[in-house]
Amino acid sequence: MFGTHQSRRVITRLNEAGYEAVFVGGAVRDYLLGKEPTDIDIATSATPAQVKSVFSNTIDLGTEHGTVLVIESGEPVEVTTYRTEGTYSDNRRPDEVQFVTSLEEDLKRRDFTINALALRITGEVVDPFNGRADLSAKTIRAVGNASERFSEDALRMIRAVRFVSVLGFTLESSTRASISELAGTIKSLSIERIKAEFDKLFRGMFAQQALKLLADTKLSRELPLFPAQHEAWLQCAPFQNSLDGWVSLMLAGNFDVSIVVKAYRLSNKERMYLKTVQKFFEIRQQRTYTTDDYYEAAYSTLVSVEKMIAAFTDLMPISNSAIKEAMESLPIHSKHELSVRGEQLMDWTGKKAGKWLGEAIQAIEHAVLHQVVPNEQNAIKEWFSHEYECKE
Ligand code: ATP
Ligand code: MG
Repeated sequence: MFGTHQSRRVITRLNEAGYEAVFVGGAVRDYLLGKEPTDIDIATSATPAQVKSVFSNTIDLGTEHGTVLVIESGEPVEVTTYRTEGTYSDNRRPDEVQFVTSLEEDLKRRDFTINALALRITGEVVDPFNGRADLSAKTIRAVGNASERFSEDALRMIRAVRFVSVLGFTLESSTRASISELAGTIKSLSIERIKAEFDKLFRGMFAQQALKLLADTKLSRELPLFPAQHEAWLQCAPFQNSLDGWVSLMLAGNFDVSIVVKAYRLSNKERMYLKTVQKFFEIRQQRTYTTDDYYEAAYSTLVSVEKMIAAFTDLMPISNSAIKEAMESLPIHSKHELSVRGEQLMDWTGKKAGKWLGEAIQAIEHAVLHQVVPNEQNAIKEWFSHEYECKE
């Protein structure tokens, strides 16, 4: 059975109210591939107003685009009215959308045949563009005329490459030829839309093929900071996650963190991660890691740094198992593992909490980490009393 209990309930209730409602898009594709879908989309012949009249708890997600969020038994379910997209004057966004009552019309506006599939609650698959055949053949093929579809919305070209990365499929020849022909038009896209597709591209198992495809189709020419010499970059793929993709782009082009953040409007969290990796990448070019480095860095950060060391320097990378071993052999991994707490220090000294307490904990943390003193209460007490008396 497909979908969550709540999403099936939403479809059934729309059907009972006399409307057609089906699962559509990526979730149907993933289901037919035997993969866990990321998000479930429902399409319906009901207009947004009609959807809202069927359910008591709904949230508007932009009714002009036809999407209503239905809260069913506590779970949000996205419901979008069948629509076609009007004219496109700027390769970006439809100037307007028109609601329609035919499912086939709705499927026709979708990007690729593998994404133009619908699934009824009965289990019947609606497949007017032979998406299932393309799924079996592992082919990404535009719905209808590829050049027309890419002229309507240039983002579809990047999406095509994103699906190559995630699914390991290949581009059907005229779809690919149209991308090469129209690659230059992606410059009109907003960077936010490109960035969202890149996040998914970086997470794909086949990211290496995808990055190469961006270069081969010349899409790369219009993508900010895409390194002209990308052989070393390709070596970094596939990535642990999208963050590592951004890190690799930064190091492939030898850019400053702020340049990448600005060009792709990265979030603050992403900026922080880039800064951390860059710091350890620079350290590693000077020397190997110290105890303090292993203590400070997260395992995944150093794994990422070593991957970059392998790709972008002549240094011998440290293996993941060696990183793990070095981290595991540390006496403590955070100050929460210390066998003494602030209360005990106050007890031992008879002093109230204050600035000294944080400093004392830090000194103990340092001493335990560097094995000046074992992580045992009595030993710490003795060491601390000695240190403390000397200082008084
Ligand atoms: P994912 O598994 O990453 O969510 P997806 O295929 O579901 O992949 P979404 O961006 O969630 O991708 O879009 C949902 C569906 O909407 C797609 O499967 C496709 O049918 C349609 N779609 C999305 N973006 C476009 C677009 N730019 N042009 C045409 N159809 C699109
Ligand atoms: Mg989706």
